[in-house]
Amino acid sequence: MVKIFGVIGHPVAHSLSPVMHNAVFRSLKIDANYFSFDVGKNELQDGIKGAKALKFSGLNVTIPHKISVMKYLDIIDESAKIVNAVNTIKFDNKKTIGYNTDGIGAIKAIKKRTEIEGKKIFIFGAGGAARSIIFSALFNNAEISVYNRTEEKVDVINDEVMKKLNKRIKKVDLNNLMSELENCEIIINATSVGMFPDVNESIIDEKFMPEGKIVMDIVYNPIETKFLKYAKKKNCITIDGVDMLVYQGAESLKIWLDIEIKDDIIKIMKDAVIKELKK
Ligand code: NAP
Repeated sequence: MVKIFGVIGHPVAHSLSPVMHNAVFRSLKIDANYFSFDVGKNELQDGIKGAKALKFSGLNVTIPHKISVMKYLDIIDESAKIVNAVNTIKFDNKKTIGYNTDGIGAIKAIKKRTEIEGKKIFIFGAGGAARSIIFSALFNNAEISVYNRTEEKVDVINDEVMKKLNKRIKKVDLNNLMSELENCEIIINATSVGMFPDVNESIIDEKFMPEGKIVMDIVYNPIETKFLKYAKKKNCITIDGVDMLVYQGAESLKIWLDIEIKDDIIKIMKDAVIKELKK
Protein backbone atom coordinates (compact mmCIF):
# COMPACT_ATOMS: atom_id res chain seq x y z
CA MET A 1 0.00 0.00 0.00
CA VAL A 2 1.27 3.46 -0.86
CA LYS A 3 2.70 5.23 2.18
CA ILE A 4 1.47 8.77 2.86
CA PHE A 5 3.72 11.42 4.41
CA GLY A 6 3.40 15.16 4.75
CA VAL A 7 4.13 18.40 6.55
CA ILE A 8 1.54 20.23 8.61
CA GLY A 9 1.89 23.92 9.32
CA HIS A 10 0.38 27.31 8.64
CA PRO A 11 1.36 28.72 6.23
CA VAL A 12 3.00 25.76 4.52
CA ALA A 13 2.60 26.34 0.77
CA HIS A 14 6.28 27.25 0.30
CA SER A 15 7.69 24.30 2.25
CA LEU A 16 10.54 22.54 0.45
CA SER A 17 9.88 19.27 2.28
CA PRO A 18 7.58 17.73 -0.37
CA VAL A 19 10.16 18.26 -3.13
CA MET A 20 12.97 16.97 -0.92
CA HIS A 21 11.22 13.79 0.28
CA ASN A 22 9.46 12.93 -2.98
CA ALA A 23 12.83 13.08 -4.74
CA VAL A 24 14.06 10.30 -2.43
CA PHE A 25 10.90 8.21 -2.85
CA ARG A 26 11.13 8.43 -6.64
CA SER A 27 14.82 7.73 -6.74
CA LEU A 28 14.72 4.73 -4.36
CA LYS A 29 11.45 3.50 -5.92
CA ILE A 30 9.68 3.67 -2.57
CA ASP A 31 5.90 3.53 -3.02
CA ALA A 32 5.19 6.73 -1.06
CA ASN A 33 4.02 10.30 -1.51
CA TYR A 34 4.66 13.44 0.55
CA PHE A 35 2.21 16.38 0.59
CA SER A 36 1.91 19.71 2.39
CA PHE A 37 -1.18 20.26 4.53
CA ASP A 38 -2.19 23.75 5.60
CA VAL A 39 -3.67 23.16 9.05
CA GLY A 40 -4.85 26.09 11.20
CA LYS A 41 -4.39 26.24 14.98
CA ASN A 42 -8.01 25.19 15.61
CA GLU A 43 -7.74 22.25 13.22
CA LEU A 44 -4.61 20.67 14.64
CA GLN A 45 -6.24 18.03 16.85
CA ASP A 46 -8.58 16.96 14.03
CA GLY A 47 -5.63 16.95 11.64
CA ILE A 48 -3.67 14.48 13.79
CA LYS A 49 -6.76 12.32 14.39
CA GLY A 50 -7.51 12.30 10.66
CA ALA A 51 -3.95 11.39 9.70
CA LYS A 52 -4.05 8.52 12.20
CA ALA A 53 -7.42 7.27 10.89
CA LEU A 54 -6.22 7.49 7.29
CA LYS A 55 -3.14 5.40 8.21
CA PHE A 56 -0.57 8.04 7.35
CA SER A 57 2.99 6.83 7.89
CA GLY A 58 4.58 10.07 9.05
CA LEU A 59 4.32 13.83 9.32
CA ASN A 60 6.66 16.74 9.73
CA VAL A 61 5.43 19.59 11.87
CA THR A 62 6.32 23.21 11.29
CA ILE A 63 5.38 26.69 12.53
CA PRO A 64 3.09 27.27 14.47
CA HIS A 65 2.42 23.71 15.70
CA LYS A 66 5.76 22.38 16.95
CA ILE A 67 4.86 22.81 20.63
CA SER A 68 1.06 22.59 20.56
CA VAL A 69 1.04 19.26 18.67
CA MET A 70 2.70 17.52 21.62
CA LYS A 71 -0.52 17.26 23.59
CA TYR A 72 -2.17 15.26 20.80
CA LEU A 73 0.54 12.59 20.58
CA ASP A 74 0.73 9.28 22.46
CA ILE A 75 4.49 9.18 23.04
CA ILE A 76 7.12 11.95 23.07
CA ASP A 77 10.64 10.78 22.28
CA GLU A 78 13.52 12.13 24.39
CA SER A 79 14.77 14.19 21.39
CA ALA A 80 11.53 16.21 21.49
CA LYS A 81 11.03 16.14 25.25
CA ILE A 82 14.36 17.82 25.89
CA VAL A 83 13.64 20.79 23.59
CA ASN A 84 9.89 20.76 24.18
CA ALA A 85 9.05 20.73 20.47
CA VAL A 86 8.16 18.12 17.85
CA ASN A 87 9.03 18.36 14.15
CA THR A 88 8.54 14.70 13.18
CA ILE A 89 5.67 12.31 13.92
CA LYS A 90 5.75 8.58 13.29
CA PHE A 91 2.45 6.68 13.11
CA ASP A 92 3.35 3.30 14.47
CA ASN A 93 0.81 0.55 15.21
CA LYS A 94 -1.87 3.12 15.92
CA LYS A 95 0.45 5.03 18.25
CA THR A 96 1.70 8.51 17.44
CA ILE A 97 5.31 9.21 18.43
CA GLY A 98 6.81 12.73 18.36
CA TYR A 99 10.50 13.35 17.67
CA ASN A 100 12.70 16.38 17.03
CA THR A 101 15.36 16.23 14.31
CA ASP A 102 16.21 19.97 13.98
CA GLY A 103 19.12 19.95 16.42
CA ILE A 104 20.73 16.80 15.05
CA GLY A 105 20.27 18.20 11.52
CA ALA A 106 22.28 21.28 12.43
CA ILE A 107 24.95 19.25 14.21
CA LYS A 108 25.39 16.91 11.23
CA ALA A 109 25.73 19.92 8.90
CA ILE A 110 28.51 21.30 11.13
CA LYS A 111 30.20 17.94 11.61
CA LYS A 112 30.68 17.69 7.86
CA ARG A 113 33.19 20.54 8.26
CA THR A 114 34.55 20.25 11.81
CA GLU A 115 34.34 18.45 15.13
CA ILE A 116 32.09 20.02 17.76
CA GLU A 117 33.36 18.47 20.98
CA GLY A 118 35.03 21.13 23.14
CA LYS A 119 34.44 23.92 20.59
CA LYS A 120 33.13 27.37 21.51
CA ILE A 121 29.95 28.07 19.56
CA PHE A 122 28.31 31.49 19.36
CA ILE A 123 24.60 31.46 18.52
CA PHE A 124 22.43 34.39 17.45
CA GLY A 125 18.82 33.70 18.41
CA ALA A 126 16.74 32.02 21.10
CA GLY A 127 13.71 30.86 19.11
CA GLY A 128 12.62 27.29 18.40
CA ALA A 129 15.46 26.40 16.03
CA ALA A 130 18.13 28.02 18.24
CA ARG A 131 16.83 26.07 21.24
CA SER A 132 17.17 22.74 19.37
CA ILE A 133 20.70 23.59 18.24
CA ILE A 134 21.74 24.69 21.74
CA PHE A 135 20.61 21.41 23.35
CA SER A 136 22.16 19.25 20.62
CA ALA A 137 25.45 21.17 20.75
CA LEU A 138 25.56 20.80 24.55
CA PHE A 139 25.01 17.03 24.14
CA ASN A 140 28.09 17.16 21.91
CA ASN A 141 30.04 18.86 24.70
CA ALA A 142 30.35 22.26 23.03
CA GLU A 143 30.53 25.52 24.99
CA ILE A 144 27.68 27.83 24.03
CA SER A 145 27.32 31.64 24.04
CA VAL A 146 23.99 33.14 22.97
CA TYR A 147 22.90 36.61 21.97
CA ASN A 148 19.21 37.30 21.36
CA ARG A 149 17.35 40.56 20.72
CA THR A 150 14.91 39.64 23.50
CA GLU A 151 17.47 38.83 26.16
CA GLU A 152 15.05 37.24 28.66
CA LYS A 153 14.54 34.31 26.28
CA VAL A 154 18.18 33.36 26.82
CA ASP A 155 17.53 33.23 30.58
CA VAL A 156 14.57 30.91 30.02
CA ILE A 157 16.69 28.53 27.93
CA ASN A 158 19.48 28.73 30.48
CA ASP A 159 17.11 27.68 33.29
CA GLU A 160 15.96 24.70 31.22
CA VAL A 161 19.52 23.73 30.32
CA MET A 162 20.42 23.86 34.00
CA LYS A 163 17.44 21.74 35.02
CA LYS A 164 17.69 19.16 32.24
CA LEU A 165 21.43 18.88 31.61
CA ASN A 166 23.01 20.50 34.67
CA LYS A 167 25.01 22.75 32.31
CA ARG A 168 25.04 26.48 31.60
CA ILE A 169 25.10 28.64 28.50
CA LYS A 170 26.71 32.10 28.44
CA LYS A 171 24.33 35.00 27.89
CA VAL A 172 25.91 37.67 25.68
CA ASP A 173 24.88 41.33 25.64
CA LEU A 174 25.93 44.20 23.39
CA ASN A 175 28.88 45.03 25.68
CA ASN A 176 30.65 41.70 25.24
CA LEU A 177 29.29 40.74 21.81
CA MET A 178 32.49 41.59 19.94
CA SER A 179 34.85 39.80 22.31
CA GLU A 180 32.65 36.71 22.38
CA LEU A 181 32.56 36.60 18.57
CA GLU A 182 36.35 36.88 18.46
CA ASN A 183 36.79 34.13 21.06
CA CYS A 184 34.52 31.50 19.54
CA GLU A 185 35.32 28.98 16.79
CA ILE A 186 31.87 28.52 15.25
CA ILE A 187 29.22 31.24 14.72
CA ILE A 188 25.60 30.37 13.90
CA ASN A 189 22.79 32.67 12.83
CA ALA A 190 19.69 30.90 14.18
CA THR A 191 17.44 33.96 13.78
CA SER A 192 15.18 34.59 10.79
CA VAL A 193 17.12 37.77 9.89
CA GLY A 194 18.17 37.75 6.21
CA MET A 195 15.39 35.42 5.12
CA PHE A 196 13.55 36.14 1.85
CA PRO A 197 12.23 38.78 1.14
CA ASP A 198 14.56 40.70 3.54
CA VAL A 199 17.66 39.44 1.78
CA ASN A 200 19.71 42.60 2.39
CA GLU A 201 19.61 42.20 6.16
CA SER A 202 22.19 40.52 8.35
CA ILE A 203 22.15 40.00 12.12
CA ILE A 204 25.57 41.74 12.24
CA ASP A 205 27.31 44.31 10.09
CA GLU A 206 30.25 43.24 7.96
CA LYS A 207 32.68 45.10 10.23
CA PHE A 208 31.71 42.91 13.21
CA MET A 209 32.23 39.61 11.38
CA PRO A 210 35.50 38.15 12.67
CA GLU A 211 38.15 36.59 10.40
CA GLY A 212 38.65 32.90 9.81
CA LYS A 213 35.77 31.29 11.72
CA ILE A 214 33.32 28.56 10.75
CA VAL A 215 30.08 30.41 10.07
CA MET A 216 26.68 28.84 9.58
CA ASP A 217 23.33 30.40 8.70
CA ILE A 218 20.24 28.28 9.25
CA VAL A 219 18.23 30.51 6.90
CA TYR A 220 18.06 28.58 3.60
CA ASN A 221 16.24 31.06 1.38
CA PRO A 222 18.35 32.64 -0.05
CA ILE A 223 20.99 29.89 -0.05
CA GLU A 224 23.75 32.47 0.39
CA THR A 225 22.52 35.05 2.88
CA LYS A 226 24.09 38.46 3.47
CA PHE A 227 25.51 37.05 6.72
CA LEU A 228 27.31 34.27 4.78
CA LYS A 229 28.52 36.77 2.15
CA TYR A 230 30.16 38.81 4.95
CA ALA A 231 31.67 35.62 6.38
CA LYS A 232 33.17 34.65 3.00
CA LYS A 233 34.74 38.10 2.68
CA LYS A 234 36.40 37.50 6.07
CA ASN A 235 37.87 34.16 4.96
CA CYS A 236 35.47 32.09 7.04
CA ILE A 237 34.34 28.58 6.15
CA THR A 238 30.60 28.86 5.50
CA ILE A 239 27.73 26.39 5.96
CA ASP A 240 24.36 27.29 4.46
CA GLY A 241 20.88 26.49 5.79
CA VAL A 242 20.18 23.95 3.06
CA ASP A 243 22.54 21.50 4.74
CA MET A 244 20.61 21.66 8.03
CA LEU A 245 17.31 21.38 6.17
CA VAL A 246 18.49 18.29 4.33
CA TYR A 247 20.01 16.59 7.39
CA GLN A 248 16.95 17.20 9.57
CA GLY A 249 14.79 15.79 6.74
CA ALA A 250 17.10 12.80 6.38
CA GLU A 251 16.76 12.09 10.10
CA SER A 252 12.95 12.12 9.70
CA LEU A 253 13.26 9.59 6.86
CA LYS A 254 15.43 7.40 9.04
CA ILE A 255 12.76 7.43 11.76
CA TRP A 256 9.90 6.72 9.35
CA LEU A 257 11.49 4.12 7.06
CA ASP A 258 14.20 2.68 9.29
CA ILE A 259 16.75 3.03 6.48
CA GLU A 260 20.38 4.02 6.57
CA ILE A 261 20.87 7.50 5.14
CA LYS A 262 23.92 7.36 2.91
CA ASP A 263 25.62 10.27 1.13
CA ASP A 264 23.82 9.52 -2.15
CA ILE A 265 20.43 10.10 -0.45
CA ILE A 266 21.71 13.35 1.05
CA LYS A 267 22.80 14.43 -2.43
CA ILE A 268 19.39 13.61 -3.94
CA MET A 269 17.67 15.69 -1.23
CA LYS A 270 20.10 18.60 -1.54
CA ASP A 271 19.91 18.72 -5.34
CA ALA A 272 16.09 18.73 -5.19
CA VAL A 273 16.05 21.61 -2.68
CA ILE A 274 18.61 23.70 -4.57
CA LYS A 275 16.77 23.16 -7.87
CA GLU A 276 13.55 24.36 -6.26
CA LEU A 277 15.20 27.38 -4.60
CA LYS A 278 16.76 28.43 -7.89
CA LYS A 279 13.41 28.44 -9.72
P1 NAP B 1 11.29 31.63 15.92
O1 NAP B 1 11.06 30.61 16.98
O2 NAP B 1 10.20 32.55 15.52
O3 NAP B 1 12.59 32.51 16.37
C1 NAP B 1 12.99 33.63 15.61
C2 NAP B 1 14.31 34.15 16.15
O4 NAP B 1 14.76 35.21 15.29
C3 NAP B 1 14.23 34.76 17.55
O5 NAP B 1 15.44 34.57 18.23
C4 NAP B 1 14.00 36.24 17.23
O6 NAP B 1 14.41 37.12 18.26
C5 NAP B 1 14.95 36.41 16.06
N1 NAP B 1 14.60 37.56 15.23
C6 NAP B 1 13.58 37.67 14.37
N2 NAP B 1 13.58 38.89 13.78
C7 NAP B 1 14.66 39.56 14.30
C8 NAP B 1 15.21 40.85 14.09
N3 NAP B 1 14.66 41.71 13.21
N4 NAP B 1 16.32 41.19 14.78
C9 NAP B 1 16.90 40.32 15.64
N5 NAP B 1 16.43 39.09 15.88
C10 NAP B 1 15.31 38.70 15.22
O7 NAP B 1 11.75 30.92 14.55
P2 NAP B 1 12.60 29.57 14.36
O8 NAP B 1 11.66 28.44 14.19
O9 NAP B 1 13.63 29.50 15.43
O10 NAP B 1 13.27 29.83 12.93
C11 NAP B 1 14.29 30.80 12.77
C12 NAP B 1 14.80 30.75 11.33
O11 NAP B 1 15.42 29.49 11.10
C13 NAP B 1 13.71 30.88 10.24
O12 NAP B 1 14.24 31.65 9.20
C14 NAP B 1 13.51 29.45 9.76
O13 NAP B 1 13.11 29.38 8.42
C15 NAP B 1 14.92 28.89 9.92
N6 NAP B 1 14.95 27.44 10.14
C16 NAP B 1 15.76 26.72 9.32
C17 NAP B 1 15.85 25.36 9.49
C18 NAP B 1 16.72 24.57 8.57
O14 NAP B 1 16.58 23.34 8.54
N7 NAP B 1 17.65 25.17 7.86
C19 NAP B 1 15.12 24.69 10.51
C20 NAP B 1 14.31 25.48 11.34
C21 NAP B 1 14.24 26.86 11.15
P3 NAP B 1 13.35 37.58 19.40
O15 NAP B 1 13.31 36.42 20.36
O16 NAP B 1 13.91 38.80 19.94
O17 NAP B 1 12.02 37.79 18.70
